[in-house]
Amino acid sequence: MTTVSAYAAPAAKAPLERTTIERREVGEFDVLIDIKYAGICHSDIHQAREGWGEAIFPMVPGHEIAGIVAEVGSGVTKFTVGDRVGVGCMVDSCRECDNCKAGLEQYCTQGAVMTYNGVGKDGEPTYGGYSQKIVVDENYVVGIPEGIGLDEAAPLLCAGVTTYSPLKHWNAGPGKKVAVVGMGGLGHMAVKIAHALGAEVTVLSQSLRKKDDGLKLGADHYYATSDPKTFEELAGTFDLIVSTVSAPLDFGAYLGLLKTDGALVNVGAPEEPISFNLFSVISGRKTLAGSSIGGIRETQEMLDFCAAHGLGAEIELIRADQINEAYERVLASDVRYRFVIDTATI
Ligand code: NAP
Ligand code: ZN
Ligand code: ZN
Repeated sequence: MTTVSAYAAPAAKAPLERTTIERREVGEFDVLIDIKYAGICHSDIHQAREGWGEAIFPMVPGHEIAGIVAEVGSGVTKFTVGDRVGVGCMVDSCRECDNCKAGLEQYCTQGAVMTYNGVGKDGEPTYGGYSQKIVVDENYVVGIPEGIGLDEAAPLLCAGVTTYSPLKHWNAGPGKKVAVVGMGGLGHMAVKIAHALGAEVTVLSQSLRKKDDGLKLGADHYYATSDPKTFEELAGTFDLIVSTVSAPLDFGAYLGLLKTDGALVNVGAPEEPISFNLFSVISGRKTLAGSSIGGIRETQEMLDFCAAHGLGAEIELIRADQINEAYERVLASDVRYRFVIDTATI
C-alpha cells in the first residue's frame, strides 16, 4: 500500500478538505500513475452532495485524470514508465458481458467499476483523481497523444468522450445541423468536436454572455434560450440536439426544435425526474435518448481525434484549496470552461 495526498468530501454536502488515502500495490497488470491534472466535472458535485442518491464517504472525486506512468506491473504490455496517460470514469468492468466485449464497458451488464464512489473487485471503495497517484489496470488506461497538453487533455477523459460518443453515434457531420444545449464543460467540448466533425453547430445557452467564446470555439450560431423567440425561430431546425444541462429542462420545447426523425440526446444528468408530453415525440417520429460517457476504445479514438484536430479543453487551472470555490462557480454556470486541479498543490 502507498499513502498518497488527496482532497476528499468527508460527508455529503461537506466542503472538500486535504486528507490521505491508500493506493493498492501495483499488481501484475496494473499501472501506477503520477497524476498531474484532474478536471472538475459537474458529476463530481452531484455525487459529493448526494444529488444522485446515497454515496460512499469519504469521497475523493475526479474522473478526468491525466498523468505520467511511474511504475508498471510485470504483465503490463500497453504502457511503459514515462508514458503520458489518462483515466476516465471507469477503472474496471466484468470484461465478459456482450457490452464489455463490444467495447461498451460503460454499459457493462454487471455494472462497471466507477473511478470513485464505486467499489473495486477487491471490495474496497474507489478513490478518484483529486489525488497525487492512482493504480489502475492497464485495460482501463488510455494514452494521451503528444500535441495535447496534459492539463487541457484531462477534461477530455469525461467531457470529451461523453460528447464525442453521441455525436458519432448519431452521425454528426457534414450536412447535419447540430445544437448543443448548455455551454459548460461538456457543452464547450461538444461545440469543438461537432465543428471538427463538419456539422453546422448552434449553441443554445441561457444567455448571450458566452456568445463570442462559442463562435470562437466553432459554433456557427448562438441563441439565448431565455428569449422565447429562439424557440419560434428555430422550430424544426435540427437533426440532432445534445443537451449537456445539469438541471431539468422543458423537453417539449426542445423537441420542437428537431426535424422529423431528429434526436434529442441527453447527456446532462439532472438530480430530479422529468416529465413531458409524449406528443412531442409522436409528431415527427422523434427520439429522446440518453448516452453515458464512452467505452475505453472509443475514449482512445476520441483522444486521437482531438490530437489530430488540435483540440483540447479550455481550462482554468486551480490549486486544490480552490476546489470548493470552483464547485460554487460551476453551480452558478460561471466556468470557462473547465476547472482543472494542479495536483502538485494537493
Ligand atoms: P457544467 O460545466 O456545469 O455545464 C452545464 C451547463 O448547463 C451550464 O454551463 C449552463 O450552460 C447549463 N445550465 C446549467 N443550469 C441550467 C439550467 N437550470 N437551465 C438551463 N441550462 C442550465 O456541467 P458539465 O460538467 O458540463 O456537466 C453537465 C451535466 O452532464 C451534469 O449533469 C453532469 O453530471 C452530466 N454528465 C453526464 C455524463 C454522461 O455520461 N452522461 C458525463 C459527464 C457529465 P449555459 O450557461 O450555456 O446555459
Ligand atoms: Zn464527468
Ligand atoms: Zn461487462
